[in-house]
Amino acid sequence: MEPHVLVRFYHEIALKGANRPWFLRQLTTNLKRALVGTGAIGITRDSMMATLRLKDPDQWVVVKERLQHVIGVERFGRAYRVNPTIKAIKQAVPSMLEGQNPTSFRITARRADKRFPLTSSQINEEIGAQVVELTGWRVDLKNPDFDLQIQTRSNDALLSSEEIRGPGGMPVGVGGHVAMLLSGGIDSPVAAYQMMRRGCKVTFIHFHSFPLVDGTSKEKASDLVELLTQYQQDSRLLMVPFSAVQQQIIITVPPKYRVTIYRRFMLRIAQDLALKCNAGGLVTGESLGQVSSQTLENMTTIGTVADKLPLFRPLLTMDKMEIINKARPLGTYPISIIPDQDCCSLFVPKHPVTKSRVEDVERMEAMLPVEEMVKEALAGVEDQTYHWPTFDASHKFAEETRSAEPSG
Ligand code: ATP
Ligand code: MG
Repeated sequence: MEPHVLVRFYHEIALKGANRPWFLRQLTTNLKRALVGTGAIGITRDSMMATLRLKDPDQWVVVKERLQHVIGVERFGRAYRVNPTIKAIKQAVPSMLEGQNPTSFRITARRADKRFPLTSSQINEEIGAQVVELTGWRVDLKNPDFDLQIQTRSNDALLSSEEIRGPGGMPVGVGGHVAMLLSGGIDSPVAAYQMMRRGCKVTFIHFHSFPLVDGTSKEKASDLVELLTQYQQDSRLLMVPFSAVQQQIIITVPPKYRVTIYRRFMLRIAQDLALKCNAGGLVTGESLGQVSSQTLENMTTIGTVADKLPLFRPLLTMDKMEIINKARPLGTYPISIIPDQDCCSLFVPKHPVTKSRVEDVERMEAMLPVEEMVKEALAGVEDQTYHWPTFDASHKFAEETRSAEPSG
């Protein structure tokens, strides 16, 4: 029996109407791309799942690691492929039980092809009896320790017993393209991931005050993008020099208003960059009331400069603990907490204004050459690209047709 991997797709995709074939195609493309270089072959899609073959069982380690990062994958696990007959299934059962010592078990049969001569419950009964005879294990239909799943299809039957969780979500690419304002903090990487899980491709924009501060925030942004690229396979990070803008702001703007005005400049610059790279929206990691710059009034004052693109705040209603609880499993948390000097903490007082008004900040900005400042920052943008996994582009998948003889 050759090991296969059974990949089940995110349940929400099944609910889509006319777009469903496109979503599934995109997910299959992302899957194939994520598995390049692993030696996994014969990726075939069948309704809401895909199967692939492992030429060598040792490949499982790397395949598992890759699949855990493919958005749109709900669950996956190793499976064994045999002929679609009850005899072949029964022959394969003993090896599925090897090394297992559960307190209870269940058989879960599904028939994708209704021409299989036994119904699902007949398969459950027949294989269940076989397992009891072989092992003496207790049957528990509700909460078993070991669940042997059997799926019969027209050309084969798949036996599996493990279920590893994928990230779920809508495949990256079907939800459009957004530009994310990525600081080195805890929130924005989580916000980026939330958008990816809704199918968005994310371009990252990071503002840094180098050389007014050291390069830590740039390094953090770069590490965060590298990590997040695992979920969308290719990323672009635009590093924007912000110290010249800040130096001009501190000359004319009273300290209490500086953070608000820094943020308005970031958003203006980000909007220009987003439009240039055809992004359809801007995203921040803001959460209502988290800090003084994120009061309803300040978010309004800041948000009004995004006048050509919608501004999304996926973390708006989440508290810090909820956000941290997402950052930890994502792996961004340890990078985010590395101490750095946030560019917005430069030359600002402890207690900035919490209820700014658009008229007031517009009056202050009237003293500044806004357009020139934006232009100058844009001229210094560093454009970086990231890829995951890194592979030899000449590598191609050996496609295998579904009619190929099952090996088990
Ligand atoms: P984060 O943890 O994402 O930094 P925060 O709670 O520290 O969030 P702020 O620092 O006020 O909040 O930032 C609010 C949002 O503004 C960030 O989530 C991010 O989208 C954007 N932002 C702030 N600083 C930067 C930066 N240097 N570069 C790019 N975006 C930034
Ligand atoms: Mg921050």
